[in-house]
Amino acid sequence: MLKLLFADERGQVYEHPELLALVRDGLPVDVPVPLPQHATLAALPGRRPVGFDPASGSAVELSEVRVGKKVVKPMAVAAVLPPGWTRSELPAYRKLSIAPVLPQWAYTAAAWDETRGLHVAWALHTDKRTHWDPSTHSTPDLPGLVRDRLAGDDNPLLRQLSRCALEYRCFTAQNTFYVRDEGAIPASSGCNARCVGCISEQPPEGPPSSHERIGKSPDAEFMARIGIDHLRAAPGRTMVSFGQGCEGEPLTRAREIASAIRAMRAATRRGSININTNGSLPSSLALLIDAGLDACRISLNSAHKPLYEAYYQPINYGWEEVRESIRLARRRGAYTALNLLTFPGVTDQEGEAEKLCELVARERVDQVQARSLAIDPDQYLAVAARTSAGGPRIGMRELLRRLRGARKGLVIGNFARGLGERARSAGA
Ligand code: SF4
Repeated sequence: MLKLLFADERGQVYEHPELLALVRDGLPVDVPVPLPQHATLAALPGRRPVGFDPASGSAVELSEVRVGKKVVKPMAVAAVLPPGWTRSELPAYRKLSIAPVLPQWAYTAAAWDETRGLHVAWALHTDKRTHWDPSTHSTPDLPGLVRDRLAGDDNPLLRQLSRCALEYRCFTAQNTFYVRDEGAIPASSGCNARCVGCISEQPPEGPPSSHERIGKSPDAEFMARIGIDHLRAAPGRTMVSFGQGCEGEPLTRAREIASAIRAMRAATRRGSININTNGSLPSSLALLIDAGLDACRISLNSAHKPLYEAYYQPINYGWEEVRESIRLARRRGAYTALNLLTFPGVTDQEGEAEKLCELVARERVDQVQARSLAIDPDQYLAVAARTSAGGPRIGMRELLRRLRGARKGLVIGNFARGLGERARSAGA
């Protein structure tokens, strides 16, 4: 029996003695998994839990509940998953008129499994590699590593990265100080999109953004110095990536980044140079590939133009340019990944799935990173309601199965692939 979860005003989570768990679309089609390690449960302010009453056979809103001697006005509860997992269902709740916009997390349906005696969540384990495991990041020695690095290097970009590593707990920024795997090089304070769920810049009426956008774009020299140090020394999946959570769109600074890449490649041939981008400026991407960029990850919430543009709110570019960037990157031999921002109920609609499969097959994409879009569900559903490609839900598991079928050798995962892994998957 999967029991409904609710939280009291202090955020303490309980399971309801009778009511069963529902997901946003009603009774769940998929089987939940035990709550993954490092996942958390979050109370949703201004949202009443909605559960299933087996006695009446209907969905009921929980507006009051007795906990011990007191009567509680319950809040709905959702899980927030760690890296490596993709959400497959949204939480069920009724939003009160006074409800605040929720902060940017990927709210996932969760419940109490009475039979197994544990919390469960509707999630798919889409990347089992362990190098992004939270237990290997934010470790007690990190502040010391940051302090020592800053003491020995006056690079102003390192000061930004120290904030990202210690305050935002960005794992890619932390890797720069751990000197391993994928390191971060933020490059741009400006952006040519206005994503509804932007994590580095939000309008006054929006939720607080989870990162503060960098104030000043770094010079090519400072970016190059960070890259050279990391590529020369970092073991593992040696890589540096432009385009981080704390910045705008790196392609808007292509000339400076190209100059930094040339300096890096003049200093070392080691590792991979990647960019995480919205793919808005194909000719700028070409400039970076000319300079030595060998991989790119292009973010999208949909391959359907109306929904893509309704969410990204692009300035002086459109879906066509994004598609051209994907095509160009493949044609130029760069490892091409899609950062697919998934949202159950929208991304797994029949029409959306068809568009994504066609894109992956036609443009011969190498990898799809199936991320969960971190946004207030009602905010996104308001955008998608009139712009998505539509059709019945096929489910997230089926969507990923069809994507794999659309392109032989397509890698589905959540994390960037190192040079060795790319060669192996290409060989396979
Ligand atoms: S492309 Fe990135 S930085 Fe630009 S608005 Fe969207 S999320 Fe924000």
